[in-house]
Amino acid sequence: MSATRVLVLNSGSSSVKYQLLEMADGTRLAAGLAERIGERQSRLVHRPLASGGERRERVEQFADHGAALRAVAEELRADGLGLDSPRLAAIGHRVVHGGQSFTRPTLIDDAVLDEIERLVPLAPLHNPANLTGIRTAQDLNPHLPQVAVFDTTFHTTVPESAARYALEKTTADEYLIRRYGFHGTSHAYVSRRTAALLGKDPSQVNVIVLHLGNGASVSAVEGGRCVETSMGMTPLEGLVMGTRTGDLDPAVVLHLMRIGGMTVDEVDELLNKRSGLAGLCGDNDMREIRRRVEEGDENAQLAFDIYIHRLKKYVGAYFAVLGRLDAVAFTAGVGENSPAVRRAALAGLEGLGIRVDPALNEAEGAAAEGARLISPGEARVAVAVVPTDEELEIAQQTYALVSDGEPQQRGEPA
Ligand code: AMP
Repeated sequence: MSATRVLVLNSGSSSVKYQLLEMADGTRLAAGLAERIGERQSRLVHRPLASGGERRERVEQFADHGAALRAVAEELRADGLGLDSPRLAAIGHRVVHGGQSFTRPTLIDDAVLDEIERLVPLAPLHNPANLTGIRTAQDLNPHLPQVAVFDTTFHTTVPESAARYALEKTTADEYLIRRYGFHGTSHAYVSRRTAALLGKDPSQVNVIVLHLGNGASVSAVEGGRCVETSMGMTPLEGLVMGTRTGDLDPAVVLHLMRIGGMTVDEVDELLNKRSGLAGLCGDNDMREIRRRVEEGDENAQLAFDIYIHRLKKYVGAYFAVLGRLDAVAFTAGVGENSPAVRRAALAGLEGLGIRVDPALNEAEGAAAEGARLISPGEARVAVAVVPTDEELEIAQQTYALVSDGEPQQRGEPA
């Protein structure tokens, strides 16, 4: 019996999301979410997908990630999908920050764990949670290959001219300050899927990917390689997001501290949690903002306009970076579901060859499912909507590494 299954784990600070995939045909065998880890009442929702079984819910205390993952393992075992199954090839872990050290998915050993630990100052909330998930999974089955798939890897091809800030070089180097980019698995998956929609190999296609979820980022992908991305040293830079400012004059931070008397933590919270769409109009859900816009709400309209202006500016800039553009692809919660955002973001760009077909853009039901084109057939630049699938991408990268891929030397981060 060959090992063709991959468990994907996405460990957050108080949650673990998981999916078990069969790589022979890409089917999902099980999925679930353990949340409120460390609180008095934690919760695990487990969905056995292949067997057609009922969704199961457990409400109990998971004192730590170990307890939560043990509960996940029990639920999987109850479906005949235990972590000791010979059919399980590996566990693929989403790791947020790989710095410049990890330019590909990497088989995890002690040296790799040390390196992820060294990068904690760059992602103080995420990397520790990712590390806890990895260590717990190792305890549950020490013999199973574990692979780290980084949010930053796809962006390690961005050239120095785009990755570096014009900050004093010695200081930037000392503190590892540069643009790393995030959402990499999504940008990788969506750019490849867009090329497939056009019937081309990724190496032949230049794409701008707009990942518009609660967090949001743009990337410019040239022949399958990322050459520019909007998130920076942290996910704060770039587009207007649900609760983050995106681009901001850094002197605003100095002003808030000097004149406003705010502390570092207060500014951090303001920029990351109380700004963006929520800070502008009180709502960060695009559905609610659109509903308010339809009712004539001025704050919602202004928030929407600022969001769209930033998006359009990035599309124009990335067109210039690429020189030739074959497609613009929308993905994630807003990108996949909001015809109004897609229409507004690309309105007025006809001169660049970018056009949206209103009927295709606004289609509903079955016509609005799956990866699809929403531009007229004759348009110079295709516009696509591509549902992202970060779990599938992580599973594929993991499986490629542990099956016939060329596993890296243990202990040598790329
Ligand atoms: P994500 O981070 O990719 O899960 O995206 C979450 C965001 O997608 C939510 O905060 C909403 O703003 C947005 N969203 C989800 N569904 C819709 C929809 N049907 N129309 C517009 N926006 C949506």
